[in-house]
Amino acid sequence: MTSPAAGEGRPDYAPVPPSALGPALNDQGYYVGRVERNLYWVTDGVYNSAFLTTGDGVVLFDAPPSIGHNLQRAVDQVAADNGVSNRVTHLVYSHHHADHGAGSSLFGDVVRIGHEETHRLLRRDGDPARPLPEVTFADAFTLEVGGERVELAWHGPNHTPDNIYIHFPDHDTLMFIDVVNAGWVPIYNTNLSEDVIGYMEAPAIALAYPWTHLISGHLGRLATRDDVAVHQQYIADIEASSREALASVNPVPFYTGAGANVWLGIKGHLNAVTTAAAAPVIAKYTGVLAAADIEEFTYTTTFAIMQSLRLDKGPSGPVHP
Ligand SMILES: [Zn+2]
Repeated sequence: MTSPAAGEGRPDYAPVPPSALGPALNDQGYYVGRVERNLYWVTDGVYNSAFLTTGDGVVLFDAPPSIGHNLQRAVDQVAADNGVSNRVTHLVYSHHHADHGAGSSLFGDVVRIGHEETHRLLRRDGDPARPLPEVTFADAFTLEVGGERVELAWHGPNHTPDNIYIHFPDHDTLMFIDVVNAGWVPIYNTNLSEDVIGYMEAPAIALAYPWTHLISGHLGRLATRDDVAVHQQYIADIEASSREALASVNPVPFYTGAGANVWLGIKGHLNAVTTAAAAPVIAKYTGVLAAADIEEFTYTTTFAIMQSLRLDKGPSGPVHP
């Protein structure tokens, strides 16, 4: 896999902004770079992972199967260059999802660390590629290996019930997966998130930590605080235009026009609200965030946020007199 050149793309879609693209991959399909000192990140251009080299071995943070065996290759390359151990001794799960963790079993008998909800969900899902973490925590855990310190914390559900914040206080870095995509819009339905309110509030929690570098789950480059701010504005714009569309689109014609088929009425109404709410956001962010003009992404994220405004925040509708 190689990164396409900036500007290259399908003629019916806006070119990918060069700012959204990361470094070129090597012949084996990965890039490994130093974040700060002995903290490194690895990418295949779509998925990101990270590792910390220490005097007692290597701590790996997530193991996306798409990077797979290239994770150990990246560790070997860095360890050889720096004369340190290439032995992975610990693996931290950011959350239970297979696309970020199913390379875990490649590392055999290492100490796995994860949130207690990650443990529960991995036990539920029973995937041998993602062995259960033997070290779990509820709210916070300080991981200390070879004189290095990493702060793991859970601040409530967002993308998943178990998605954690991984702070490297001595490396000016936060790792936080599957909420902000560096330079790109979220994919479908608030980046396939389970808790919409938690997803919307998570970036502010991330920004409350001190850091300069963000290792996000996707897509091939590190993120900055500005990337998080642009993402927050994109979500805030969707929220504002959803409120406006909910208030301005008249539902009555959709329901009267649907006759006895009430569900056809609701489809007409909610689709009209979503289209009205998403259109100005798609226009504003095309050329700013990559893939903003893939309508399904902003449309389904708008639908999810609009429904959360109705169902979580309320009101869902007028009270019958
Ligand atoms: Zn995920």
